[in-house]
Amino acid sequence: MADRRAVVIGGGITGTLTGCALLRAGWEVTLIEALHIGAGSSSRTAAGIRQQFSTRESVLGMRYSVDFYKHWQQSMGQDGQPIEQNGYLFLVQGEDAWKAAQKRVSDQQNWGLTEVQALSPQQTVERFSYVDPEEITGATWCPSDGFLRPDVVYSEAAAAFRALGGTLLQGSPLVQAERAGERLISITTGKGAVLNADVFLDCTNAWSRRVGDILGAAHLPIQALKRYLWFIERGDSMSEAELLNMPLIISPQGAYCRPENAGSLMTGWKHQAPDVSANFAYDDQDIIEPAYFHKNDADSRPFETWMALAQALPPVGEFAGISATTAGFYGTTPDHNPFLDFDPQTKNLIRMVGFSGHGAMFGPFSAQVGLALAEAGESIDHVRVLGEDAELAPFKINRDFGAAEAMVI
Ligand SMILES: Cc1cc2nc3c(=O)[nH]c(=O)nc-3n(C[C@H](O)[C@H](O)[C@H](O)COP(=O)(O)OP(=O)(O)OC[C@H]3O[C@@H](n4cnc5c(N)ncnc54)[C@H](O)[C@@H]3O)c2cc1C
Repeated sequence: MADRRAVVIGGGITGTLTGCALLRAGWEVTLIEALHIGAGSSSRTAAGIRQQFSTRESVLGMRYSVDFYKHWQQSMGQDGQPIEQNGYLFLVQGEDAWKAAQKRVSDQQNWGLTEVQALSPQQTVERFSYVDPEEITGATWCPSDGFLRPDVVYSEAAAAFRALGGTLLQGSPLVQAERAGERLISITTGKGAVLNADVFLDCTNAWSRRVGDILGAAHLPIQALKRYLWFIERGDSMSEAELLNMPLIISPQGAYCRPENAGSLMTGWKHQAPDVSANFAYDDQDIIEPAYFHKNDADSRPFETWMALAQALPPVGEFAGISATTAGFYGTTPDHNPFLDFDPQTKNLIRMVGFSGHGAMFGPFSAQVGLALAEAGESIDHVRVLGEDAELAPFKINRDFGAAEAMVI
């Protein structure tokens, strides 16, 4: 079917999954990627996937994403296993925070996440013997949450994209665009390919500000903020099996960890960072500032993170040492919800960007929204997933940012 042509810009989890959704619906799709598939945040992510959010729309959307990743073979026709459902455990300290957490659990249950629970300190330590019950007022626990294997997601999505007949152009950055009034006519890549389409989709997340400028699109408030991961080697204080079964755990202060493999714990903790959305280079993703490098002083952020985790999880304090640091960018909006909507000044451009710390988990839901928008040809108010309507108000570009997502990592 050649009368509905789409060009997807950006070959991360969002772009590859959205490209596949469009192809399955009969669109002719070309995907352009500046470097190679997964070169952006999608290969630098902790890739946690949780349904514990503070709005009905994100809870429903992430219930859909979990279901999609769980049924990957049916969804994508690929053999990999992209999701480990070890659960998410939010540790909570203080009476006010505990009251708010219990209210969120009750809301999430009402929104269909029936398996989420509020646990007392005693119930928490009965399930997770490595948690210090003296350090928490309670915990929220959802066993169907977990984490993804992001390389499986984007590489198998790219394979499915090719198998479905999509055209994938790597090493092909967007460099120029031709417009006629409020419509995009064509875009040009760095290799000189000129691509015409009925609909264009911006899936460049942290790069969206500059990509938007090239496209003549609206300036969206998305900050590119550096984020790090550190890997701590397991010691004798925890068995291989215990580490492998560990959920993604968030300490009361916000430091988080999850198993990378039987010998290594992945950790992270957000920090103040300057917005570099106007001018970072691709290679800047790999630059590690001294205060964030694990071979530096014991008062650096990796050690603070380790100590914050050790306070709530004493056996982690006995681990053998930090072995590696990796880095990438969040593309962050003022309310930590992404933009999934038509561009306000370009009638045939869909923006799917600004995922903050949740673009890997949003992938399947984003792809459903992107497809629904492309099919409608205009901004829409809801999308149907799991037999329910997900309202798209929290993801509209012209929203007022008043209702920020409360569960941000
Ligand atoms: C340390 C860290 C931890 C994270 N933890 C989590 C987590 O636990 N769970 C979660 O869900 N998310 C997490 N995230 C966020 C998540 O990784 C991102 O939101 C997600 O990967 C975004 O995917 P994307 O496909 O939208 O963007 P990207 O993967 O960044 O892809 C965008 C692509 O666009 C390409 N591009 C840029 N400019 C151009 C151009 N001019 N022309 C063509 N292509 C271009 C880039 O090369 C890139 O490949 C984390 C991120 C980081 C950095």
